[in-house]
Amino acid sequence: MTQQLKLQDAKKLMLSFDIGKLDFAKIIDNINNDKLLKQFSPDGICQIDPRNGNLVIYNSSRAKRIHTTVDNSQAVKDDMPCPICEGKSSDIFDLVEQSEGFTFINKNIYPIFHPIDEIPNEEADYFSHQDLEHKGRASYGFHLLQWTSSIHNKDWHNMPFADALISFKQLAKLEEILLYQPTNFMSRSVTKIDQQVVSGYISIIKNYGAAAGASLSHGHQQIAYSNILPQRFFNNLRFRKRHNKSFSLFMLEENPSELLVKDYGDVVLIVPYFMKRPLDMLLMVKDTNKRYLHQLSVHEKQQVTQGIQEAIRAIIALMENMKLQPAYNMIINNGPGCGLYLEFLPQTQKMGGYEQIGLFVCQANAADSAKQLREQIPS
Ligand SMILES: [Zn+2]
Repeated sequence: MTQQLKLQDAKKLMLSFDIGKLDFAKIIDNINNDKLLKQFSPDGICQIDPRNGNLVIYNSSRAKRIHTTVDNSQAVKDDMPCPICEGKSSDIFDLVEQSEGFTFINKNIYPIFHPIDEIPNEEADYFSHQDLEHKGRASYGFHLLQWTSSIHNKDWHNMPFADALISFKQLAKLEEILLYQPTNFMSRSVTKIDQQVVSGYISIIKNYGAAAGASLSHGHQQIAYSNILPQRFFNNLRFRKRHNKSFSLFMLEENPSELLVKDYGDVVLIVPYFMKRPLDMLLMVKDTNKRYLHQLSVHEKQQVTQGIQEAIRAIIALMENMKLQPAYNMIINNGPGCGLYLEFLPQTQKMGGYEQIGLFVCQANAADSAKQLREQIPS
């Protein structure tokens, strides 16, 4: 029988059915008072590599994780007992039923960000932050997980469209709630939306497959809410300042048409001309004034969901053809510097020494990858 988390077991973990109706202070309290979370809480320091702006956050307790110590080939086996399906996870903040099962949001018990006791008076603007003594900057916030489905082997690529859309909308809703939360828990971000100041940064990523860093095979997204603007999003912001336009607008104008994978109308799926790894893709929202998921219209949300499903299906099929265990990262580029876009980074090649010095040796060319992807995706 398919493993899944049963609704009656989920209800035992429920703090709420709708995170939007939870008092935000209650969320912080719940996170602060979670003994398990404290045990695995990060060091709360973020250092910056002055050569290239790489950010490093430290979490020395993370090595104690059960799933990081098992070897990679085991981490993806579907017949292993799954702690999520067994209900051995943290409190649930949000749950929406789907045609089969449900999608839900809970706490990551191995957080990369955790609240700190005293929020330092630091410059939220990344361009003006100074660290003369190299103590690093404080990093804080919290770390949530969205389970795409309660059914163990269901994820974006094999869920009905309507169910995938529910999961996507739930993610957009969470992003909105965190950005506009009313407390002073988080430093103010450098950006404003419609003249409203928002707080913190929401970094949403997905790891799928052991080779892409997934420690659990039950399909999920990670949502980090923090004062730290990851380098990729900082670079989006820097790109905008330098070029006076967003990276996504630049790509919509400049990327060669032969690298188009699919045009959905309001959203477009492309292989970037600077592809670093075979099958890398970008899913770009054509309205480049939109910087966050929750700003998307009904149609845009539908098209982004369809794009996610089709891009991932194509990656999995093509990696299987290449005799590789399917594995990819999905990154949602939101925040102050965007044009909203999503990145799909399949683990089609390992990182070697040249890649570590910023010289990627790619075993395919962009035009061939785009052609293969077009052949996989229904037009
Ligand atoms: Zn499971």
